[in-house]
Amino acid sequence: MSEQPDRYHPLAERFGVALRRDEPLARYTVARLGGPADVLVVANNTTDLTDAVTLAAKHGIPWLVLGGGANVLVSDAGYRGLVIINHAKAVRFEEGGRVIAESGANLSTLARRCMNQGLAGLEWAVNVPGTVGGAVINNAGAHGGDMAASVRWVELFSVEDCPHVELWSVAQMRYGYRSSALKGERGRYVVLATTLLLEPGHDPDALNARADEFVAHRKRTQPPGASLGSIFKNPPGDYAGRLIEAAGLKGTTYGGVMISPVHANFIVNTGEGTAAQYRHLIELARAAVYEKFGVLLELEIELIGEWEAAPDANSLVSR
Ligand SMILES: Cc1cc2nc3c(=O)[nH]c(=O)nc-3n(C[C@H](O)[C@H](O)[C@H](O)COP(=O)(O)OP(=O)(O)OC[C@H]3O[C@@H](n4cnc5c(N)ncnc54)[C@H](O)[C@@H]3O)c2cc1C
Repeated sequence: MSEQPDRYHPLAERFGVALRRDEPLARYTVARLGGPADVLVVANNTTDLTDAVTLAAKHGIPWLVLGGGANVLVSDAGYRGLVIINHAKAVRFEEGGRVIAESGANLSTLARRCMNQGLAGLEWAVNVPGTVGGAVINNAGAHGGDMAASVRWVELFSVEDCPHVELWSVAQMRYGYRSSALKGERGRYVVLATTLLLEPGHDPDALNARADEFVAHRKRTQPPGASLGSIFKNPPGDYAGRLIEAAGLKGTTYGGVMISPVHANFIVNTGEGTAAQYRHLIELARAAVYEKFGVLLELEIELIGEWEAAPDANSLVSR
């Protein structure tokens, strides 16, 4: 009997022992949840990134880039294909407040570096986990600031038609509240880098002091531990956390996961949880809020791997 050909062979040829097989994704997500990826590679620079994606596309292998894994819930079955963990993190500071950051740069580290150089505009990001790439895709934001306010250009790599680089303006990104033209477009574009325009000439101590206030505020209002930050977007004029709390679910536990008693829009993995349990609490909160207030909460996080579709309003009514 002939052996099955190894579809990942071209990737193994390029990356050698750095290509890990059946690698648990829980190690790469902030919620510490998620089953194995068929194969996984850490991209240490943008060449690794573009090579991995080009090879995967050429051989029909599904691929996915992860930054810090701070905004994704990966299913317990994991991911059938290639996961690329992005560590391409070079940063260049130019005249006039221009900062060119590769997408794997850690966002909060970048924010502190900018503050130390007297560049204002990223103080809000001081405590937001993840990478520049994830923040560019999601229009991450906090404390009244967001990426959209600082991003000028986004350098993208695409394998559609043939591998090429595109430079998108901030207008092309069509930024909205925790959304962009690229959110949910997995498997089409890789963010390679972004050009930010920050405001030079500020006092680094004052910027750091402001950021420290944000850190302290978070410590007071958000739970520690393995979570994904806010699960749902805030609906217009209200707060998802307030609605979930008012629906009586604050502190609800299911298996090893819990709707945080500190902030009801956070679901914490206490250590023994599963992605299925996490999803169960998500849908419990969505259904309870819809039933009580008629508000259909929209996910801020992304579901990765195989999942049942989220229920729509009609199916929530008929429960
Ligand atoms: C405790 C906690 C607090 C949080 N607080 C906030 C907050 O205040 N504000 C906020 O906005 N968010 C918050 N978040 C969510 C999260 O930090 C942000 O969404 C962050 O920007 C995600 O970045 P990441 O690198 O971890 O993305 P990931 O979770 O790794 O990826 C998210 C999506 O982006 C895609 N992606 C990532 N990098 C690339 C790339 N280079 N090219 C193409 N696609 C890419 C992934 O494929 C995935 O679809 C919080 C999360 C946690 C755990």
